[in-house]
Amino acid sequence: MAYENIEWDKLGFDYIKTDQRYLSHWRNGDWDQGKLTEDNVLHISEGSTALHYGQQCFEGLKAYRCKDGSINLFRPDQNALRMQRSCARLLMPAPSTEQFIEACKQVVKANERFIPPYGSGGALYLRPFVIGVGDNIGVRTAPEFIFSVFCIPVGPYFKGGMKPNNFVISSYDRAAPQGTGAAKVGGNYAASLMPGSQAKKNNFADCIYLDPQTHTKIEEVGSANFFAITHNDEFVTPKSPSVLPGITRLSLIELAQSRLGLKVIEGDVFIDKLGDFKEAGACGTAAVITPIGGIEYNGKLHVFHSEKEVGPVVSRLYAELTGVQSGDIEAPEGWIVKV
Ligand SMILES: *Cc1c(COP(=O)(O)O)cnc(C)c1O
Repeated sequence: MAYENIEWDKLGFDYIKTDQRYLSHWRNGDWDQGKLTEDNVLHISEGSTALHYGQQCFEGLKAYRCKDGSINLFRPDQNALRMQRSCARLLMPAPSTEQFIEACKQVVKANERFIPPYGSGGALYLRPFVIGVGDNIGVRTAPEFIFSVFCIPVGPYFKGGMKPNNFVISSYDRAAPQGTGAAKVGGNYAASLMPGSQAKKNNFADCIYLDPQTHTKIEEVGSANFFAITHNDEFVTPKSPSVLPGITRLSLIELAQSRLGLKVIEGDVFIDKLGDFKEAGACGTAAVITPIGGIEYNGKLHVFHSEKEVGPVVSRLYAELTGVQSGDIEAPEGWIVKV
């Protein structure tokens, strides 16, 4: 889609070719300087490990236009650190935090005209990734790597306001108990495509994965993290080595505690104890918070607050976090990097 044809109030979450993307190569033990390029097509060896053995990882973060015209990046240092952990798990070299943030800044600046206006609820979504490339066929780490960052303008996830969604428990797993669940890697997503599409065919927003070891505890909501509010106003979110440590989840934990005065519990969320909760939600960069209306398990739908209305605690958490991201509410120290 050409820039001229973008309808800012109708933006969804779709690929749009923006002006520039950042590209850096790792060869002979180090990353090169990196550069911006207009070319959105990668030319890589047919033997690339990213193509055959899933040696790749990615990140997702947003840049926001503020009221005063400045541009906020939300906690990019956390994305850099997570990418370094994902790379380590897949035996890939990672960009330093400095290179990662610099690449993000360059991409935002070069595509400034694509940042949705303040107040639209939209943002510039950045997609950094690392892939194993170069001539190879054996199962081993690649001889070369690419680190790239591209961006697309995205609209608010919920047009016309947040609405609760229903989810269904899946009998499939997205990750193994000591596998790659905590790394942001494409393999987990490949494993989630079929269960996710089955859930959507049955009119659910997505499926929920239970812990792969015992299938008794909630782990992930599609590709977002789960949280719930108990009747005693405690913020509960699963803790497990196969849950992806989300930055939205981490931020909600900190805001729930410091700004809403909720007690935070990271622990088990048993699927047969959903009655403990008055509200529930899924959280991630794309939607920030998706309120959970109900969860279907063994043919029965458990409804939390309501299938139609968003609960008051979820609403307050959403307002606080989105306010911090767009610069309307003061951010905790170090959360905002100005571009
Ligand atoms: C990216 C991701 C999340 C959310 O992480 P954020 O940093 O909040 O965007 C949650 N679960 C999975 C499986 C993910 O890949």
